[in-house]
Amino acid sequence: HAKQSGRGRFSYFTRSMSERAEQRLALEHALRRALQDDELFLVYQPKFLLPGQRVFGAEALVRWRQPDGTVVPPDQFIRLAEESGLIHQIDEWVMLSACRQMRAWQEAGIAIVPVSVNVSLARLDVDRLLQGTRRALDATGIAAHMLEIEFTESQMFAQQDLARALLAQLKELGVSLAVDDFGTGYSSLSYLAAYEFDTLKIDRSFIHNLHESARHQAIVRAIIGLGHALGYRLIAEGVEKIEDAQTLQNYGCLGMQGYFFSRPLAAEDFAAVLMNAPAPLDARSG
Ligand code: C2E
Ligand code: MG
Ligand code: MG
Ligand code: MG
Repeated sequence: HAKQSGRGRFSYFTRSMSERAEQRLALEHALRRALQDDELFLVYQPKFLLPGQRVFGAEALVRWRQPDGTVVPPDQFIRLAEESGLIHQIDEWVMLSACRQMRAWQEAGIAIVPVSVNVSLARLDVDRLLQGTRRALDATGIAAHMLEIEFTESQMFAQQDLARALLAQLKELGVSLAVDDFGTGYSSLSYLAAYEFDTLKIDRSFIHNLHESARHQAIVRAIIGLGHALGYRLIAEGVEKIEDAQTLQNYGCLGMQGYFFSRPLAAEDFAAVLMNAPAPLDARSG
C-alpha cells in the first residue's frame, strides 16, 4: 500500500512538473511568434509635474496582444522572457518602437516629451544593450536626451561592476537614466553615490495609502531628502489617491505617475494629451 501511494504521488508530481514545463515551452514558443508577428505593442503612461500637472514625460510599457485578442500584461511574460533570453529582443524592440513613435509624433508636428523604457538587467549584455540603444537613436534621429532608460534597483545591485560600466557608457551616449522601484532592492547608498542617475522612481508599495501610514511617510521623506541632496529628479510611482498626491507635494516630490492622474494610454490617446497640453512657457513668451 505504502509503495502504491508512493508511486502514485511520484507520478502525480512528475506529471504536474512536465505539464508546467510544457506550458512554459508553449508560452515561450508563443512569445517568439509574438516578436516575429508584431503582436507586441506599447502603451504610454504620462508623468505629471505638480502643482500645474504639466505632462513632462511618459513611460512606455509593453503589452502583448495574442491572436485571439487577449492582451497579456508584462508581469505574465517578462520573467519567462528573461529566463529564455528573449528579453534582449523584447527590450530592443521596445526601445526602437518608442523612438519611432516619438519620431512619428514629431513629424505630425506634436511637441514631444522624453519617453522612458524599461530595460531588464537579468541577462545583461553591455555591448548588445549599447548597440541597441545607439541603433534606436540613429535609426530615428531622436535626440539622446529624449530617451530615458529605467533600471530596476534590485537587478542593478546583483551585478554592480557590469552595471557601472554600462551606466557610464549610456551616460556618454547622452540618454537619461532612472532607478526604477527604488526602495525595494538593497537601496545601497554606495551605488547612489557612485552612479550618475538622473531620476529616482519611488516604488509604488510606499506610495499606496501613503497618507495613512506613518512608517511609509518616514521612508518616503527620507528617500526624497536623499534624492534631492544628490541632485536627482524624483518621481513617485503608483499615485492612486489625491491624498497621497498632496502628501507627496507637501514633502517636495513633484513628479508623479499613477492611476489618479492617468492610466497607461494607447499611443493615439497620449498624442491627444500632448496636443492639448499648453505650450511650454518659453515657447509662449518667445
Ligand atoms: P514598472 O516599470 O515599475 O512600471 C509601472 C507599473 O505600474 C506598470 O505596470 C503600470 O501600469 C503600473 N501602474 C501605474 N500606475 C499605477 C497605479 O496607480 N497603481 C497601480 N497599482 N499600478 C500602477 P505594467 O505596465 O503592468 O508593468 C509591470 C512591470 O513590467 C513594469 O514595472 C516593468 O518592470 C515591467 N515592464 C513593462 N514593460 C517592460 C518592457 O518593455 N521591458 C521590460 N524589461 N520590462 C517591462
Ligand atoms: Mg518602469
Ligand atoms: Mg521596473
Ligand atoms: Mg516601477
